[in-house]
Amino acid sequence: MKPFDIVIVGGGGAGLYAAMEAMKTNPALNIAVLSKVYPNRSHTSAAQGGANAALANTAKDDTVELHIFDTIKGSDYLADQDAVEILCSEAPKIIRELDNIGTPWSRLEDNTIAQRPFGGAGRPRCCYCADKTGHTILQTLYEQCLKKGVFFFNEYFALQLSVNGSRMKGLIALNIKTGKVEAFPARTVVFATGGYAKMYWNRSSNAAGNTGDGQAIAYRAGIPLKDMEFVQFHPTGLRKSGLLVTEGARGEGGYLVNAAGERFMSRYAPEKMELGPRDLVSRSIETEILQGRGFDSPAGKYVHLDLTHLGADLIMSRLPQIREMSMYFEGVDPIEEPIPVRPTAHYSMGGIDTDNFGRTVMDGVYAAGECACVSVHGANRLGGNSLLDILVFGRLAGRTAAEEARRFEPAQIGAEELKDTEAALRSYMRPSGHFERYGTLREELGQTLGMNVGIYREASKIRKGIEDLAALSERFRHIRVFDTSDIFNTNLLQVLELKNMLDLAETVASGALAREESRGSHTRTDFPVRDDEKWHKHTLATLDRNGVRLGEKPVSMGRYELQERTY
Ligand SMILES: Cc1cc2nc3c(=O)[nH]c(=O)nc-3n(C[C@H](O)[C@H](O)[C@H](O)COP(=O)(O)OP(=O)(O)OC[C@H]3O[C@@H](n4cnc5c(N)ncnc54)[C@H](O)[C@@H]3O)c2cc1C
Repeated sequence: MKPFDIVIVGGGGAGLYAAMEAMKTNPALNIAVLSKVYPNRSHTSAAQGGANAALANTAKDDTVELHIFDTIKGSDYLADQDAVEILCSEAPKIIRELDNIGTPWSRLEDNTIAQRPFGGAGRPRCCYCADKTGHTILQTLYEQCLKKGVFFFNEYFALQLSVNGSRMKGLIALNIKTGKVEAFPARTVVFATGGYAKMYWNRSSNAAGNTGDGQAIAYRAGIPLKDMEFVQFHPTGLRKSGLLVTEGARGEGGYLVNAAGERFMSRYAPEKMELGPRDLVSRSIETEILQGRGFDSPAGKYVHLDLTHLGADLIMSRLPQIREMSMYFEGVDPIEEPIPVRPTAHYSMGGIDTDNFGRTVMDGVYAAGECACVSVHGANRLGGNSLLDILVFGRLAGRTAAEEARRFEPAQIGAEELKDTEAALRSYMRPSGHFERYGTLREELGQTLGMNVGIYREASKIRKGIEDLAALSERFRHIRVFDTSDIFNTNLLQVLELKNMLDLAETVASGALAREESRGSHTRTDFPVRDDEKWHKHTLATLDRNGVRLGEKPVSMGRYELQERTY
């Protein structure tokens, strides 16, 4: 195959914005987007609540500076302040740009873009399309990419980077439709493969495919991962499935209520109440449950998210999807009854370490979106800042790759490498005496992470988690793919995803053990206080012969000094 100038792995918001911007920067470039699912089925399409931008439509006194401060405070001062400045200053422009190319933002009566309150934000600045914001953004971007002539390789599963010494030659991927391993020689590769929170299995709001493939590929190629220990639990997952009830439901005025009928957030965030930042609200719900003030059910303990006082009109016009999901998955109509909820693993703050333009340490390799860590979210992401992140940094990574692509000479990927890769995949299908099944390992992975590296963490539990992970990785060596067919071999794909999650889970647990403090989403009951002297820094996880090696990187500071974080 003729080398591409840019191969983008991922057709979510980050990948599609990168593709659109790269085309705009240099229309002569040959750009491909690879995606394991159809682009408009990427997890971005599940984003409900909205994207933040200080447009000052709903609150006239909102400013970019306030948005910057909220984000840095929300991150528990671990975000890089120069990156946050880019994020928030670009926000109004990027929302308007999406408006211009057709995203149907909900409107105020004066026809300006409507904004709703979101957690940890000092002003209502979250721009939304009812509760289907991600879906509408993704459709708009896909349309633009098709129009501009981006080549799409849908249902291709990226397997590895092809690297010769320090020279990146392109990507190797599995064609899911044929079972063939194919080469994508490329001058540059942009990872935009989304998050890894699905490793928490049935306690996750994420799509099945959010298995951190891009991070695992980069990690195995020697690129460091940053701040992997920070996994965000969203306060309101549906009790049974972990599926998400948007923060927008609390933004519109929903209450959290325990079994004693109390709006318990008054104990934890008397000012912000239900609109405290996610880490704080999740810990509060977990504490209520642990201290016996939750409801009980065969599907687990939970609290109530009560929207009944908002009225049918508001629920049906602004939260229609939430109503539908509550009815379908919990048998509850939120117009009539409260929704049973509990925290759910939701977002990966950690990811591939990049600079502010999406560059990684490897020449020609870039990353953007949830798979990357710039870092704008630090130890805790604010709701509405991730859609913004994928747009702003997807655009920057696409532009940078387009500007730099021609600096790298094209190379070919040898047939031998493809043959070896195909043989490695086939080896999973070989019958053997002792074998392990995907489903068992997958579930055990989720369980040990949830129990030992979840919302509340402590050394002995994390060590148990690390032991379990090592045992699971050992058992993985005997995994068997029972389906030996070529076409849509989903059993094989699941096994490949499991391998990626096992590799990444080790970085999450190792980072969690090392970081002896509590900051943002990372709460150590044995080190309950933020320790700026020792831990005001990023962790960097690199793969070496013995597994994870942890390094560190300073936080880039700016106008805002470290302060205690209260709400
Ligand atoms: C239920 C839910 C609701 C959310 N709501 C909001 C919200 O209201 N506001 C907000 O700011 N954020 C929200 N978020 C977070 C936000 O939606 C995500 O962080 C963001 O959409 C991620 O975009 P992305 O482009 O980085 O990745 P994704 O949209 O996850 O896309 C990843 C892409 O990578 C591809 N891919 C992955 N692995 C491979 C592989 N091996 N080979 C080929 N392709 C691969 C996939 O096919 C997909 O196209 C929400 C998240 C969830 C789960």
